[in-house]
Amino acid sequence: MENQILQSEKLAVIGKLVASISHEVKNPLSIINQSAYSLKRKVNKLCKENAEEIIAGLDRIEKSVYRANDIVERLLNFTKPYYSKIESINIKDVIEEAIKLSFLQAKRSDISISKRLSNAYIKGDRNALIQLFINILINAIESIEDKGSISIKAYKDKSKGLAVIKIRDTGVGIPSQYLDKIFEPFFTTKESGTGLGLAVVYRIVESHGGKIYVESEEGKGTEFTVELPLNKEEEDGG
Ligand code: ADP
Ligand code: MG
Repeated sequence: MENQILQSEKLAVIGKLVASISHEVKNPLSIINQSAYSLKRKVNKLCKENAEEIIAGLDRIEKSVYRANDIVERLLNFTKPYYSKIESINIKDVIEEAIKLSFLQAKRSDISISKRLSNAYIKGDRNALIQLFINILINAIESIEDKGSISIKAYKDKSKGLAVIKIRDTGVGIPSQYLDKIFEPFFTTKESGTGLGLAVVYRIVESHGGKIYVESEEGKGTEFTVELPLNKEEEDGG
């Protein structure tokens, strides 16, 4: 049974919220950081006896500021528009690139991967499209506890004018009560998950005029289907 994901307006609202909160939070963080830095430089003059202890404390402050900043940056990246350049793109190339990058990151030799990729041209932003498939692939990789496989198909559905991409894994699967939640920002079932991967996927697909579907069975695996409109000019011309 296919489960089409409804448009999430929440995402746009959260985007605006994050942008304004980030701005407000970054200013005080930067002041804390500068103060810690300048105190560290003066600490020997100010109080020699406890210098070491004070420096250790200031180091901890700097590290925490760094962490907080990093979180803010990530949230901001998530809300920024992605597109630098819209061009004609062979979906096969971006998928190959995404496979390379996600497996480089994952270092998993217990996962076999099979792919059947046709050439299909769409219009879009190369980096955003790579990101889209990386996010799906990383989830697929993470869903496989021991051994397993991931298969990736891409083909043209000429009659519908679509490039169709299917990414299937033999991982843990998604409980049916979660199927309509997984694209929501911050929904995660992972201990150290961000819950932003699929929210980003959803936005990228949507902004490229596409659709995304998911089918899953607990204990068996999951299949994501991405449909993106073919670039008519390229497809008719070449
Ligand atoms: P995160 O990976 O940080 O948890 P995502 O937005 O990427 O956030 O995914 C949200 C949730 O959707 C995951 O926590 C997981 O429960 C579920 N999920 C996504 N992809 C898969 C998959 N291939 N197999 C099983 N569960 C998945
Ligand atoms: Mg993820």
